[in-house]
Amino acid sequence: MSGDSTSSASPARAADAPNGVPDDPIVGIDLGTTNSLVAFADAAGPRILHLDAELDPSAPDGGLVPSVVRYRGEAVEAVGRVAAAGLEDHATRTVYSVKRYMGRRFEDRADDAAASPYRVVAGSRGLAGIEIDGRVRSPEEISADLLAHLRDRASEALGVPVRRAVVTVPAYFDDAQRQATRDAGRIAGIDVVRILNEPTAAALAYGIGARGDAETIVIYDLGGGTFDVTVLEVMPAESDSDEEAIFRVLATAGDTHLGGDDFDRVLVEDLHEEAMADPDPERRARRLAVLRAVGSRAKVALSDAEATRIRLDGRGLVPDLDRTLDRPGFESAARPLVDRTLEACARALKDAGLERTAVDRVVLVGGSTRMPMIREAVESWFDRPAYVALDPDRVIALGAAVQGSILAGTRRDALLLDVIPLSLGLETAGGAVAKLVVRNTMVPTRAVEMFSTSVDGQLNVGLHVVQGEREMVSDCRSLARFELRGLPPMPAGIPQIEVAFNVDANGVLGVEAVERRSGRRARVQVVPSNGLTRDEVDRIEADSLEHARDDMLVHRVVDLAVNASLDVKWITEALDRVREDVAPDVTKAVESGLASLQSLITRAREDPRSVDPDAFHQAKDRLDRASMPVHEASIARSLRDDPSSER
Ligand code: AMP
Repeated sequence: MSGDSTSSASPARAADAPNGVPDDPIVGIDLGTTNSLVAFADAAGPRILHLDAELDPSAPDGGLVPSVVRYRGEAVEAVGRVAAAGLEDHATRTVYSVKRYMGRRFEDRADDAAASPYRVVAGSRGLAGIEIDGRVRSPEEISADLLAHLRDRASEALGVPVRRAVVTVPAYFDDAQRQATRDAGRIAGIDVVRILNEPTAAALAYGIGARGDAETIVIYDLGGGTFDVTVLEVMPAESDSDEEAIFRVLATAGDTHLGGDDFDRVLVEDLHEEAMADPDPERRARRLAVLRAVGSRAKVALSDAEATRIRLDGRGLVPDLDRTLDRPGFESAARPLVDRTLEACARALKDAGLERTAVDRVVLVGGSTRMPMIREAVESWFDRPAYVALDPDRVIALGAAVQGSILAGTRRDALLLDVIPLSLGLETAGGAVAKLVVRNTMVPTRAVEMFSTSVDGQLNVGLHVVQGEREMVSDCRSLARFELRGLPPMPAGIPQIEVAFNVDANGVLGVEAVERRSGRRARVQVVPSNGLTRDEVDRIEADSLEHARDDMLVHRVVDLAVNASLDVKWITEALDRVREDVAPDVTKAVESGLASLQSLITRAREDPRSVDPDAFHQAKDRLDRASMPVHEASIARSLRDDPSSER
């Protein structure tokens, strides 16, 4: 990305704005405890603006801006990623998790303040303030510095100056905290057109409220420093009306001192206690910051791996470290934390006067819900699958952007509501698509189909979920990939893999694959309508009509090639077994049949359009006829070798 992009917030660029971004867009801002994000929604739905993309466009955390600000004297020295990277070296001048102090009195946050590497003091009117280099700033001012950074980056990303935003806050925020958030926007020069509850944003991101019946939704939000559970009642908007859906908070519960940070500490609990006892305040701050980073890295690693090793060279400043941690150990040590979240769920339901069974949907929000133990515990407690299709770190910003587009009057066109706009399918061997749900099917819907393996002894099967009307994967939109792992070794074609597609009333697709014999299962969830506009759907449909004949032919050839390669494999194996039992001219005829079928397979793989399906059938027939004596000899041989098989 070129260096001159920093000067982009000038009005002159508005006319050139890509994708028809309006002159005065309303963005959605998730002003989070750990990370903040900006999103924007147009006819293709909401998308995260990749604010720090110039640093690393391919980073999986693209768009996430750490809610961290570093000061030096009067000046803001760094914001976001740069400030977060310097946290360990500038522990007393770097402010993170400032959201905890928004609109709060110092005495209500004295415990947090005591554990904080930066200095929290009683500021004006007893409200919490942060003192750095002798200057006390309010949490609003610090949040404003963050917001200004987000606004500038968003203006660059959209190519127009951003002035208006929907900003999210936790549902439990009281008036003082909401006002503090508005004030932060004002200080940053942003018109906060709405303060939106985070759980409502999460529901909006999943399309909840766009149609259908009234529902009860639970939003389970486990972030970096806090846990919130909210019970929402949703009354969808009348279709064809300009009214908005109504989201009512029935109850909230949670714990302002329970989040990913606590899970980090579980992993290094003993070291944390030692560090807290360090009498030297500078060193204590440094040790706590280092432990925070090390614990967090190990925890994130354990979401994917069964074990992880942490090693740290303390450079004489803090003690060295070398230990291996495993997931079961972590999960049992963290179980009390998980139980506390479930107890809060129980309290929230009780306050709402509802039974667990009255909950229609559960939505997972917050980076910490990536821990497998959290998803498992929540799904088992509520006895239903949770919504996880959207990135739990981004879902609130996406929903805020949806709210922004509703307020700006740029709602999504009436697309994608009651029917599936494009067919949903699975990639099969050879790159063809097996369509499980065809376009225009009413939602909700379910479809199941059996698949198998194409290679002997295959232990893992890659599943690729696609969308579109064409016959080959390369002409469709990729929706998700996942793996079914740990199959017992079996010959190709023997495993029975049942794949179920489930589209619910909100258009969220769940795909589950189960291998019948071993019971191994894997699943994935996606929102297929994301990134689709009416125009896109129309174009895809027109394309598929244009290519219909050609596509059918190609699909047929690909399937024939896949089946033929299994035939080639089986017949070659049989011939090897009985070569001595059959006449040389039989062997010759079979070998020539195998060679011509194999050459068709090779050609079909290179360019399926160059192969005539009838040629395949003829080659296959010839081979079948030639190999009859081989099959007979093969049966005779197995009877000879194992007479019991006669019975
Ligand atoms: P949030 O405040 O929602 O941004 O959540 C941030 C928290 O999520 C931090 O405590 C992160 O360590 C945690 N987190 C992010 N990714 C993962 C992961 N893959 N496994 C476990 N925790 C994660």
